[in-house]
Amino acid sequence: MQSKPIQPGRVLVIGAGLAGSLLAVYLARAGWKVELVERRGDPRARRHIAGRSINLAISARGLKALRRAGLEETILEDAIRMGGRMVHPVAGTPHFHAYSSDPTRAINSVSRSALNLALLDAAAAEPNVTLHFDERCTGVDFARTEAAFINDATGATRTISADLVVGTDGAYSAVRAALQRSERFDYSQDFLGHGYKELSIPPVTAGPHAPFAMEPNALHIWPRGESMMIALPNPDGSFTCTLFWRHDGEGSSFAAIRTGADALAHFHAVYPDAVPLMPTLTEDFDRNPVGTMVTVRCNPWVRGRIALLGDAAHAIVPFYGQGANASFEDCEALADALAAEPSVEAALERYQRDRIANANAIADMAKYNFIEMRDLAGRPAFQRRKKVEHMLHRLAPGRFTPLYDLVSFSTVPYTEAKARGAANDRAVRTVIRVVASLALAAVAIVILLATKAIP
Ligand SMILES: Cc1cc2nc3c(=O)[nH]c(=O)nc-3n(C[C@H](O)[C@H](O)[C@H](O)COP(=O)(O)OP(=O)(O)OC[C@H]3O[C@@H](n4cnc5c(N)ncnc54)[C@H](O)[C@@H]3O)c2cc1C
Repeated sequence: MQSKPIQPGRVLVIGAGLAGSLLAVYLARAGWKVELVERRGDPRARRHIAGRSINLAISARGLKALRRAGLEETILEDAIRMGGRMVHPVAGTPHFHAYSSDPTRAINSVSRSALNLALLDAAAAEPNVTLHFDERCTGVDFARTEAAFINDATGATRTISADLVVGTDGAYSAVRAALQRSERFDYSQDFLGHGYKELSIPPVTAGPHAPFAMEPNALHIWPRGESMMIALPNPDGSFTCTLFWRHDGEGSSFAAIRTGADALAHFHAVYPDAVPLMPTLTEDFDRNPVGTMVTVRCNPWVRGRIALLGDAAHAIVPFYGQGANASFEDCEALADALAAEPSVEAALERYQRDRIANANAIADMAKYNFIEMRDLAGRPAFQRRKKVEHMLHRLAPGRFTPLYDLVSFSTVPYTEAKARGAANDRAVRTVIRVVASLALAAVAIVILLATKAIP
């Protein structure tokens, strides 16, 4: 006998960032009465949300989740496709490396603020959603399925109870902090030794790519071993650059280079081709803060009828451009579980079973990708390896798919992508060894023939 599906009740979603807003849309459409509570003010009149990065890369997983909410086209209208990396060496001309052997594949640079606003607008348009701003969650009660809030401006407090509570309150989640104080909760946070600072390349009026100062359809990267800078295009012709430097130590570090004037001198030596494109470099450097990056892993994500989702459950470093994409996948997984299971408890269990291993897999891959971007991307041996990967993909598309394609251009689970990536590595190493042996054998045969030919 088929068990009865859950009768949608009241759900409290804490945090109206990227994941919380999308989840509100899904659950409202599934019949839940959604209370979406955000600690910041309502950004809809100003049409701007300050966030941790100005733009971000959205790829297949994020697009699939947005499509389900009917938002893919809206988001893609203002997105800029990036088909590969444009690698800028210290000296010489930049060179382009496609992300995939399939030239139609690209990741999309989108404005974080515009994305969050589009999601909030979609949530607000749902009759089943009630939005509350300026209310900060201060704690949750697992037994009563309720959360406490304070309005920091007025000091007013209140409690909201529901049939289901989801903490989508980001990397420094208050809901997760409450879970941390409960029993048998595994938790780790691992801060990266590098921080980041955003800088800008403004639009230009002349040049081959005007209004863009550089090729717009690429993610620009200045790999410098221990550090790097990247730049993503914006629809107005500007680029947002992100400098990834060590917090401490000598050389390219935020401890060693503290002022815009010192940064300018450093840029002349280390990122020389970027300097003429960055007229506000010194001001940007002085004005913009240094951000920190953290990997958070925890288990369980669920206690009673309270669950974590998005960065609250799994903050990851940004080097695979997957944090938001993974958070959107979480939203799909939770909505699907609630539609499939007979009780909220069973649905939450299914959701965390599905997602925790995948979150850990993308956390690992994101960390590794930092090494690939800052160091390996500039090395000829690595570029040759990528060419071999693309060749294998072209020759046997059904049997060999490079890891980048699996992560960014497919929706296979991250755990599967990671395992297949490791198998790919072995295959590529074998091909390179065999080709090297064949080349050696060919040289030996030529030498033999040549020596025989000489009397
Ligand atoms: C520099 C950088 C670059 C990135 N680039 C990419 C990229 O290219 N691609 C990608 O997919 N991901 C990227 N990410 C990751 C991405 O930003 C996150 O994974 C994504 O924002 C997670 O969404 P979220 O809704 O879980 O959290 P958030 O977007 O952080 O939203 C959390 C919301 O909760 C609210 N909140 C917080 N505390 C409380 C509280 N106590 N009570 C009520 N509300 C609260 C916040 O105000 C916020 O609105 C990047 C991250 C960084 C730092």
